[in-house]
Order: sequence, then C-alpha cells, then structure tokens
Amino acid sequence: MIEYNIDGGRTLIAVGEWEDMYERVGFKAVVDEAEDKLKEVIARYSLKSRHSCGLKSCRTPHNRGYLVVFNSGSETCIGNRCVKNILALILRKVKMLLQKRLILKSTESILLKSNVR
Ligand SMILES: [Zn+2]
Repeated sequence: MIEYNIDGGRTLIAVGEWEDMYERVGFKAVVDEAEDKLKEVIARYSLKSRHSCGLKSCRTPHNRGYLVVFNSGSETCIGNRCVKNILALILRKVKMLLQKRLILKSTESILLKSNVR
C-alpha cells in the first residue's frame, strides 16, 4: 500500500508493488544524498518484500519507508529509519540557524541600547 501526498496536484492512490515506484518518471534506484538534497516526502509505503534503500550511503533492505523527491527532481524510496535520520539532521540545522538568529538579534538589541545612552 502506498499513500500519496495530495498536495501539489498529486492524487491519492493505492499501489501494491515496488514496481509502481520504480516505473515513475524520475525514479532512481540510488541517489547520492551528499550530492542532492531532500526536497519533499511524497508517499509512505508498507510492502511485503524487502528492497534496498535508495540512499547511496545505506542500501539496507527494508519494506516500510517513504518515496521522496530530491532537489534535482530525482525520486527514490528510502527506509523508515533513514527518513527519520534525514529529518532529524534537517531539524538540527534549523535549530542551529534559529539559535544564531536569536544571538544576532540579542546582540543588535544590546548595541542599540548602548548607542541610545
Ligand atoms: Zn536507508
């Protein structure tokens, strides 16, 4: 069973085989996540047989995961754990960026107060 995201014009459909993903335009069996960044998660699947994860650094057989799109437009299927790892990495970067912005804002505020006196 695959559940597709209905955002962006995609429709909700049910598919029962790996080939349903493999035959999609833009699908690649392997994507180098160091060269191409994750753009969107477009579907979730849970299938009976195990196939290799599409991340170049992983290739672990899995039967539950997500169909994802990268910035280049390439699609691949990646295991449940890999999606969690990628999303955790993105969240960590967002938190670091937010922290830097807060420090910058705080510094600006201190400088403005010191100039007013
Ligand atoms: Zn993986």
